Amino acid sequence: MSADVPHCAGGRGGCRIRVNLDGELRAVTYGYPCTVHVDPVEKKPVFHFLPGTPTLSLATVGCNLHCKNCQNWEISQCNPEDLEAMHLPPAALVDLARREHCPSISFTYTDPVVFYEYTLDTCRAAHAAGLKTILVTAGYINREPARELFRHVDAARIDLKALSNDFYREICDATLQPVLDTILLAREMRLEVELIHLIIPTLNDSEADLRRLCRWVADHVGRDVPLHFSAFSPPTSAGHLPPTPVATLERARAIARECGIDFVYLGNILEAEAANTYCPGCKRLLVRRTGFSVAREPHCARRMPGLREGDLRRMELTRRKFLQAAVAVLAVQCTVGWTWLRAAPARGVQAVRAGRYPGRLRPLDERELRRPGPWLG
Ligand code: SF4
Repeated sequence: MSADVPHCAGGRGGCRIRVNLDGELRAVTYGYPCTVHVDPVEKKPVFHFLPGTPTLSLATVGCNLHCKNCQNWEISQCNPEDLEAMHLPPAALVDLARREHCPSISFTYTDPVVFYEYTLDTCRAAHAAGLKTILVTAGYINREPARELFRHVDAARIDLKALSNDFYREICDATLQPVLDTILLAREMRLEVELIHLIIPTLNDSEADLRRLCRWVADHVGRDVPLHFSAFSPPTSAGHLPPTPVATLERARAIARECGIDFVYLGNILEAEAANTYCPGCKRLLVRRTGFSVAREPHCARRMPGLREGDLRRMELTRRKFLQAAVAVLAVQCTVGWTWLRAAPARGVQAVRAGRYPGRLRPLDERELRRPGPWLG
């Protein structure tokens, strides 16, 4: 948690939400998320867990890191009293997830470590109700609280911002080692882990940086762990930096593949194949992702870590049903359209007779209707 310890009554930590209330350090955002949405799980991005499903996503204000490149700084770096929040205790979130037909709840946008107690209680309530839980986190947390939380978490998408302590110190106001420990702990506790690395030009985009990071993932975390490279688009606070060139992302993907990582994805760019899953065995397309829509390609039966057969079958079914529904809708539209077009002249005459044409047209009498227009006369 934050290194700033508030000693005086009413003082708060660097995370902004832990306040010294009557000598007790309390997380004042417990039960008060400032943002709640239903997102596709692919938006987290989480690709190998409950693919193609919606997830109830929430955050409170505050963060235990202070990344200079934060895209969500309006909520991560503000005080609880500066933003409106909803009152949604853990049980209410679970009810909401069920009402919205979400099979999972995601703690995201800011870091759930900062609203740890709320996250933990909601995860427990979600599991008791048969829902899954997903953490989207920078992984900057001590081992014991992480272990307690991970008992109630199914999937974790963890940022690995750089394999450099200097980067974490200068850019995020944090340190590297706890993040690495969290990633290894999540794997050890058998969570579905996906890693994301935001490539920021000039800060962590050198060939050596990328190779070191990919090597560490392949050697210590596992080659079957999905690795997402994400393009940086400069927020106001880092407007002096350029966006990440597509060539840099493609180079990162090539390096990751050279290091033996099976599932490499590119995010925040428009590239047709950036988010597809290819079979590491036969190299053929297994899952096609377009925007946030997901479709299973049926020509490879190989099992993928995290992509369970049930999920894949459901995706195939959804896709088939979608295609059938699209064809049916098209057929109905064509029939209705054709019937409507064929009946148009008669309808026009009736409408003119009845004086129902809008605008400047006046009702015509029988003689005018029968008279050929000047272009025919
Ligand atoms: S950890 Fe994420 S939410 Fe927190 S400051 Fe860094 S980028 Fe923003």
